[in-house]
Amino acid sequence: MIIIMNKNAREADIARVEKILSQQGIRSERLTGEKQVVIGIIGASNGLDISVVTTLEGVQDVVRVSSPIKLASRLQHPEDTVITFSDGTKIGGSAPAIVIAGPCSVESADQLRRTAEFVRSSGVRFLRGGAFKPRTSPYSFQGLGFDGLELLKKVSEEFGLFIVTEVMEPAHAPRVAEFADIIQVGARNMQNFPLLRQLGNVNKPVMLKRGPASTIEEWLLAAEYILSGGNENVILCERGIRTFETALRYTTDISAVPLVKELSHLPVIVDPSHGTGKRSMVTPMSRASIAAGADGIMVEVHPDPLRSLSDGVQALTFEMFEEMMGELVRIGDAIDRQILIEPYTGAKSRGSKKSPSESPYKVA
Ligand code: PEP
Ligand code: MN
Repeated sequence: MIIIMNKNAREADIARVEKILSQQGIRSERLTGEKQVVIGIIGASNGLDISVVTTLEGVQDVVRVSSPIKLASRLQHPEDTVITFSDGTKIGGSAPAIVIAGPCSVESADQLRRTAEFVRSSGVRFLRGGAFKPRTSPYSFQGLGFDGLELLKKVSEEFGLFIVTEVMEPAHAPRVAEFADIIQVGARNMQNFPLLRQLGNVNKPVMLKRGPASTIEEWLLAAEYILSGGNENVILCERGIRTFETALRYTTDISAVPLVKELSHLPVIVDPSHGTGKRSMVTPMSRASIAAGADGIMVEVHPDPLRSLSDGVQALTFEMFEEMMGELVRIGDAIDRQILIEPYTGAKSRGSKKSPSESPYKVA
């Protein structure tokens, strides 16, 4: 950290800043320039509150030179984090990009089973579905709760699917972790610090969505809460942010993908369904996400979007989903990144791997 003094700071002001630092056990060094003095902090700044230093007499500015991002930072962990599931399926690094697909909400046994069978037959391994729904209005469908989790478990066993589902309450985390293969933290909960702390203790990967009004630094600091609790398996999910543009529900920040990959070793995926809020935008933005280097995408798909109890406007139809998968494979080919597609043999295939050349989407 560097403290820049005003051009007309008095010796007493400078000495006072130095005294405050030394009283807090912080080592510093004074650099006297032609016009102004700069005080450099050597080593740890012992939790010094920048905002307080900025208010001291004679101080012009305080500049942070080291990042507050520690465990999530690539500087401390240069190699990519790769998350490995029970059958060897991986997310991150140079592993094939994954597709997570399914309805916004688990609505009924029939709706979930139809969707699960369809996405699995399309070669997808990860099924999404919310049982606890963060709805803007308390009068909207709130999800089936633990009954929804039971339905997810049933189809995951039947079709060999990994389950991605959201937890909203810290107290629910251990129980949701028993059903989920990836626990989702929704955008609205990105800074629910008790929830993040709780997820630092669970033994399942956590997918942390970016808050709609959060900076990249805030997002990475939220990940830091989970990592510092001892859970190293965090996946970051860009899901659109609020900007001045209102033509779509949110603005999908595709540049977050290469930027976060530069700053952090954690896998990054994109959710273009929530990122745009519009069905016709989902496939183009999925293509863009893979092209930008995302480790996967998460999309909403529904057997009958018009009857969906939540987010029907952004849900892909089965037909649109299949078309999108073919396009993703072509983008993957162009940038030399495979898309994880495992043909479904009809058997309980959690773990039965097929070579990607058997993919129904591969174009020669
Ligand atoms: C969801 O994934 O269904 C969801 C509610 O997403 P978000 O938290 O990004 O709005
Ligand atoms: Mn949704």
